[in-house]
Amino acid sequence: MPELYEGIANFYDESSGLWEDMWGEHMHHGYYDTDSGSSSQNDHRLAQIMMIENSLAFAQVADSKEERPTHVVDVGCGIGGSARYLARRYEAKVSAITLSPVQAARGNVITASQGLTDLVTLQVANALKQPFEDGSFDLVWSMESGEHMPDKQQFVGELARVAAPGGRIIIVTWCHRDLELGETCLKPKEQALLDKICDAYYLPAWCSPSDYMELLKTLELKDIKYADWSKNVTPFWPAVMASALSFRGLIKLATSGWTTIRGALAMRLMVQGYQMGLVKFAIITAQKPL
Ligand code: SAH
Repeated sequence: MPELYEGIANFYDESSGLWEDMWGEHMHHGYYDTDSGSSSQNDHRLAQIMMIENSLAFAQVADSKEERPTHVVDVGCGIGGSARYLARRYEAKVSAITLSPVQAARGNVITASQGLTDLVTLQVANALKQPFEDGSFDLVWSMESGEHMPDKQQFVGELARVAAPGGRIIIVTWCHRDLELGETCLKPKEQALLDKICDAYYLPAWCSPSDYMELLKTLELKDIKYADWSKNVTPFWPAVMASALSFRGLIKLATSGWTTIRGALAMRLMVQGYQMGLVKFAIITAQKPL
């Protein structure tokens, strides 16, 4: 898999600065309250925070001083937006890993500028071979990194391994739709679309939310559950596309590299995937028994 890992590292090395300029430190979808029609649908930074908060609530992460997480791992951390948020939220120590040296370096600079160096550390490491002891963390956080993992079994195995007894595991990730009864694979047209998205974003083969559930069930975990938040992220990609097409976005894109431009061009494929009901935005959580 070295080629995939190199591709991922290069993609984020090259594109993270542009993303940070346009969108800030969180490199993930926003969660929108699509029923209320409220103004928060236009507040994308708030929606990104709502994604974090709703994920914590869904996993029933404790808030009280006695029970809240004290040691957190952010697996696939980008420039550490979640890592710093969680450190502040829980006064927790956060270890964060990414494949991108540029992200790790930039993330540590932001962390220092926010006075969080004692709590948060970003480093380059592979999620499938984490440099942590068994049972180290009472919150294991993976926000939109699972889709990059070439071996989902090993991925969830590592998440479970580093979780402490009683610890929560949160995976928020892109999936393809569950297969229907009698189906053995996606339709050729669907697979063709996913293949194009994979090329642009350096993703290996996708799986469904049910596949994740099955994998987690093979591990010693309890309270394994999942929700489909695809509807709640609908406003996100159109907003990212609009920002890319803004004057500032276009100038920045024009001065960035090909992989970033290719990523920007693929945004419409994601919108198409959601519209077809093919791409699913899933949260999957579990707890390691005490
Ligand atoms: N969770 C972050 C970033 C999401 S972007 C946020 O919400 O802001 C995806 C991240 O996953 C990138 O930082 C990328 O380097 C990381 N990633 C992908 N595959 C990885 C792997 N095998 N090991 C560690 N990090 C990985």
